[in-house]
Amino acid sequence: GSVFAHLVRAPEDPILGVTVAFNKDPSPVKLNLGVGAYRTEEGKPLVLNVVRKAQHQIVNDPSRNKEYLPIVGLADFNKLSAKLIFGADSPAIQENRITTVQCLSGTGSLRVGGEFLAKHYHQRIIYLPKPTWGNHTKVFTLAGLSVKTYRYYAPATRGLDFQGLLEDLGSAPSGSIVLLHACAHNPTGVDPTPEQWEQIRQLIRSKALLPFFDSAYQGFASGNLDADAHSVRSFVADGGELLAAQSYAKNMGLYGERVGALSIVSKSADVASLVESQLKLVIRPMYSNPPLHGASIVATILKDRDLYNEWTIELKGMADRIISMRQQLFDALRSRGTPGDWSHIIKSIGMFTFTGLNPEQVSFMTKEYHIYLTSDGRISMAGLSSKTVPHLADAIHAAVT
Ligand code: PLP
Repeated sequence: GSVFAHLVRAPEDPILGVTVAFNKDPSPVKLNLGVGAYRTEEGKPLVLNVVRKAQHQIVNDPSRNKEYLPIVGLADFNKLSAKLIFGADSPAIQENRITTVQCLSGTGSLRVGGEFLAKHYHQRIIYLPKPTWGNHTKVFTLAGLSVKTYRYYAPATRGLDFQGLLEDLGSAPSGSIVLLHACAHNPTGVDPTPEQWEQIRQLIRSKALLPFFDSAYQGFASGNLDADAHSVRSFVADGGELLAAQSYAKNMGLYGERVGALSIVSKSADVASLVESQLKLVIRPMYSNPPLHGASIVATILKDRDLYNEWTIELKGMADRIISMRQQLFDALRSRGTPGDWSHIIKSIGMFTFTGLNPEQVSFMTKEYHIYLTSDGRISMAGLSSKTVPHLADAIHAAVT
């Protein structure tokens, strides 16, 4: 017999498993609203035009080769990524207080940051919002941190449980790490207002908590790269320390290229260089060094003013299409007289809407309408189009009546 015969079958990943089920469904009207990947109005994956241009430049440049990158990745990419999230005129960049390392997209950046903290930070507790992206809990637990949660979402108002958030972070042990979604909170689509961010910042600093920002949707939420980095920049502006994980999966459509960055903002350039030396020790035995191609694409775009401008226009186009899907779905439910207040569909920020549908209603929609979504009722607005909105509205209507 096999030495692995004793294995128990692991469950499908709750998010990626939705696509597995979707792929098995032969129905011509099937609709996948589970995975957080952008689709065009025709329901197709999108490769940005600027990405095609950058790729073209890269493959036609005979001076480029396929050598290994350094452990910390492509130097240009790291510098430009820090400028993108912290702002080109950030004093922390000028003072060399930021260490940026290229990692395997957002997930890899979170994992490297988590392992670094578990090894070198005095407080191994990390607070995650409840709910949060499902992978956070596993990433940080396996990194060696002890995961706790803070209240975030209030089902009754379909909004932020701001009081609960302040209470929970207020009673967290001093020094605890706090994971914050920089914008476009996944899965709820609910973000703090700028005033609420300011109160959160004051509380975090007064309790010497350590903020760890997960920025997977910069530019994708509002269509504006600076606006979507507001929360992170306000925490850098106060001179305090923090971590930030960036992903280019959504905002450049580079999902499969696995390109992202981890930045650690320290109090001094000396500390930043110690941090870098230890980050290398985390990365080297994990995957040695990161992949070249995706980082070259990003650096090519961020470095060239014309490509950069073209990117911001394409990015805004994606954000605007998602925002228009919100309005169309809301209107479709209203025209059907679907019971309930669906205004949260318009108010939600980013790729997702937390519909409020329960697991029974979700499974009804999958069975009867071939619509696939996670059982928490989260739908990816980016997977919708004008043509599929009526089908989804019919399904939601039938599920709640
Ligand atoms: N963080 C959040 C909140 C996300 O929603 C995602 C992707 O869905 C990620 C991180 C990581 O994505 P990736 O590893 O593809 O960059």
